[in-house]
Amino acid sequence: MIPFLDLGAAYLELKSEIDTAIHRVLDSGWYILGPEVDAFEAEWADYCQANHAVGLANGLDALILALRALEVGEGDEVIVPSNTYIATWLAVSAVGATPVPVEPDPATHNIDPNRITRAITARTKVILPVHLYGQPVDLDPILVLAREHRLKVVEDAAQAHGARYKGRRIGSHGDIVCWSFYPGKNLGALGDGGAITTNDPTLADRIRVLRNYGSRVKYVNEVQGANSRLDPIQAAVLRAKLPHLDAWTDRRRAIAALYSEGLEGTGLILPHTPDWAEPAWHLYVMRSSDRDGLQKALSEAGVGTLIHYPIPPHMQAAYEGLAIPAEALPVARKLAREVLSLPIGPQLPQQDAARVSDIVKAIAQ
Ligand SMILES: *Cc1c(COP(=O)(O)O)cnc(C)c1O
Repeated sequence: MIPFLDLGAAYLELKSEIDTAIHRVLDSGWYILGPEVDAFEAEWADYCQANHAVGLANGLDALILALRALEVGEGDEVIVPSNTYIATWLAVSAVGATPVPVEPDPATHNIDPNRITRAITARTKVILPVHLYGQPVDLDPILVLAREHRLKVVEDAAQAHGARYKGRRIGSHGDIVCWSFYPGKNLGALGDGGAITTNDPTLADRIRVLRNYGSRVKYVNEVQGANSRLDPIQAAVLRAKLPHLDAWTDRRRAIAALYSEGLEGTGLILPHTPDWAEPAWHLYVMRSSDRDGLQKALSEAGVGTLIHYPIPPHMQAAYEGLAIPAEALPVARKLAREVLSLPIGPQLPQQDAARVSDIVKAIAQ
């Protein structure tokens, strides 16, 4: 059996470094914020080519606090991709604003900048693109639109650790960039974790205050904040892993290249990478008109796959209230029917990836 992802193997690869890091925190007697979180924030900002990083409890909170820092709330609209993990939409709803979906370019699965203008209204405050599957969004046209219409750009980079857009790391193109360190992400903690990066010192400061009860000085509360602090044990784990992230991304890229070469000519629609994009290869997502049949055959052949994502947010019971008609957003619905993610990860042996490729090819032909 070749699993979709083996998180235990990721821990074992760095077991001694991670165990040492965790014990450093346990021995320190400092269990909330403090030097370990400060150090990770500096290292993460540096890695992302951003001036500031703020460690948070998870990726959803990163999105919520980013929107709160930009004073997005009741009556405001935020432009989101029609195909994304539901967290992107939930953050918008959590601050009382309305998610306004825009369809993706089916070639890249990412929000189509050409469709955004039509979705902008007098209530629009923010454009919230997602670097889905670790493939960078075409940011320049979005940043131009934002400037023209006086909107802010918040990036959901929960799947894009280390990806580059036109040579520069994702991390400070938009006003605020939101990260998740959920265990399965490219840089994953051993529990929940998140962060924002930004070049704007005022926004960084606002989020720093918001994450800690709205407080800069203990028992002095400037705003109604949240409790959303990155755990120092997780910060220590992330610090142990960060020096390995680029090598891990290289291994992901090698697996993606092996799949794309092996599956050429099978009729499957393979990931398309524009020449300005250096993806993080969080997922390797292909499309098949008989996706369910292919997934079942792969499972019988011992290959674990997943679907990212089977139900678009507008079709979830959670969003019945938006009353988006069933026939709306056909691109998101079609992608949800056709996408299939193959095993990928730094700990997946190259020979297993080669086997996966051979098995998929045999089934698809
Ligand atoms: C994982 C993820 C999130 C949420 O991150 P959590 O840390 O699980 O809260 C948000 N958006 C996208 C695209 C994600 O993949």
